[in-house]
Amino acid sequence: MVKEIPRATAKRLPIYHRYLRYLYNAGKTRISSTELSDAVKVDSATIRRDFSYFGALGKRGYGYDVEYLLQFFGKTLNQDRLTTTALIGVGSLGNALLNYNFRKSNNVRIGAGFDINPDIIGTVHSGIPIYSIDELEEQLEMQAIEVAILTVPQEYADGIMERLIAAGIKGVLNFTPLRFEVPDTVRVQNVDLTNELQTLIYFINQEDIADQLSRD
Ligand code: ATP
Repeated sequence: MVKEIPRATAKRLPIYHRYLRYLYNAGKTRISSTELSDAVKVDSATIRRDFSYFGALGKRGYGYDVEYLLQFFGKTLNQDRLTTTALIGVGSLGNALLNYNFRKSNNVRIGAGFDINPDIIGTVHSGIPIYSIDELEEQLEMQAIEVAILTVPQEYADGIMERLIAAGIKGVLNFTPLRFEVPDTVRVQNVDLTNELQTLIYFINQEDIADQLSRD
């Protein structure tokens, strides 16, 4: 069992994982810490120490077993489990997310969209089927979806959230400006794009004012 991994080591895991996958796909079965060091630009002593946290002690003159390490890191990083999420509200932002569909990740994707607009229900957007919001509970259960992305207008968000909680959702990525009170079994992550942008602009303006004052 892996216990406490130092943060710095944990941060390097995806780098090792990506390169090991590349080696594995290229048919390579083993690699030395020196070779790995050259490829990922981490010194070989650090690699040996990082790997030792996982009990992966390379054999002298043999190096590390690529397949073993790949499987090991895949599990540690949860990369071998694909999480399918549902997107609720296929408007402008929802569509952008469907189109994006986290393509750079190999462990999360949007698998279903939900909306009330009859013009889009039953259609496929960016390869993802759009269901009626009336089918929410049924589809979540059938597709074993535990995570939802909320991009409906704010006035509908509360009602949808209640339904999601009742349906046993575990996590919600909330793009609406509403803030929810949820039971301990549900985790909500709020993303307020307007707020983020305004905060950024606020700080830039503050810096401009400070500059001006220091010049005056
Ligand atoms: P659009 O240009 O398509 O109107 P928008 O992002 O400005 O995009 P919004 O009014 O924010 O549109 O609505 C986002 C999406 O949420 C729309 O596609 C709308 O049909 C959908 N929607 C509204 N109410 C609900 C609801 N109760 N359940 C599910 N989807 C809903």
